Amino acid sequence: MKLVYVDNNATTRVEDEVLEEMLPYFKEHYGNPSSIHTFGRQVANKMDLARERVANILGADTSEIVFTSCGTESNNNAIHCSLEAHPERRHVITTKVEHPAVLNVCKYFGKQGYEVTELGVDKDGMLDLEELRDSIKDTTAIVSIMHANNETGIIFPIEEIGEIVKEKGVLFHCDAVQAIGKIPVNLKNSHIDLLSISGHKLHAPKGVGVLYIRKGVRIDPLLIGGHQEDNRRSGTENVPYIIGLGKACELADGFVKEEQTTVRRLRDKLEKGMKDKISNVVIIGENSDRLPNTSCVSFEYIEGEAILLLLDMVGIASSSGSACTTGSAEPSHVLQAMGVPPAASRGTIRFSLSKYNTDDEIDYILEKLGPIIKRLQDLSPLFEDSQITAKE
Ligand code: PLP
Repeated sequence: MKLVYVDNNATTRVEDEVLEEMLPYFKEHYGNPSSIHTFGRQVANKMDLARERVANILGADTSEIVFTSCGTESNNNAIHCSLEAHPERRHVITTKVEHPAVLNVCKYFGKQGYEVTELGVDKDGMLDLEELRDSIKDTTAIVSIMHANNETGIIFPIEEIGEIVKEKGVLFHCDAVQAIGKIPVNLKNSHIDLLSISGHKLHAPKGVGVLYIRKGVRIDPLLIGGHQEDNRRSGTENVPYIIGLGKACELADGFVKEEQTTVRRLRDKLEKGMKDKISNVVIIGENSDRLPNTSCVSFEYIEGEAILLLLDMVGIASSSGSACTTGSAEPSHVLQAMGVPPAASRGTIRFSLSKYNTDDEIDYILEKLGPIIKRLQDLSPLFEDSQITAKE
């Protein structure tokens, strides 16, 4: 059976060149980068290169790069440590559409007595920046707002957001896990103080991430122990994975322009094909600035899980909302926040492409998807009712 992977916002395949660079650091070069002997120094040098490559993709300084175990850790670290470093400030601002790795951290602090403001979005998934400005108070410790949404691909204007947050003298954390490698990001003249990256979203392995900490920003570490990562994240570094992440950043930096053309063309072809061939299709966030690889599509009056299973039976791997929340029957919190009615949000599928997808694969999806949707619509009493109402 043909296999088509279009679930790259959940995770990506490790690139060949990334794996090649990693392999020697399991068997030949296995020293501890903190050791001063040859074994250790060899590894430390290669880790320096990885740090440089990560810094390059961000327009950052190597001293601002802290390696972590994943995007979730980076997000936890940023929020937790900002609050610990400013104990007199007990207010956090975030949005209703964040990944659970931010939203649930904020909810946790809410339970600990912190005040948490969750900013809403409009039907296009956009924030009201005046509302953000008005929400920042003397007691605000940190504003945590994502760059690009994992479910819809909608991009927030983080430069403008940064300016507003900076005016008020508050720390700004940005979860850029879905943005890095898909759109250009340059922190040089931005007002972002803390930024999270995850390796497995950009063709590096799972289990490695980065927290960017702007020079001069004081945050207390979450993991306390040895002096690794300049006392900002204790624990012996995951050397091969860090080396893989460095290489993946270098490759992603070289490809990011093409992502806007090659990958976007395939995504647009998929969306046009769906709209031409299938009835009751709504592209979520169609009028907003979106990641070039992501298409979040709602097929009204049918269940996303059913579409997902039938697609899987013909070898197509997609997702019904965030992979981390798949399995729960709850409608997506992102679509709820955008005011997408339940009849539409329940039938939502996310296709997320990568450089490995081809025209043939998009044709295959379009060939298989139409009959699957038709079959499910024919079985759906709600769809039948909607057609009768539409005719009346
Ligand atoms: N933030 C966003 C926007 C994500 O999409 C994800 C993963 O899906 C994460 C954070 C968590 O990253 P990780 O899987 O590396 O913990």
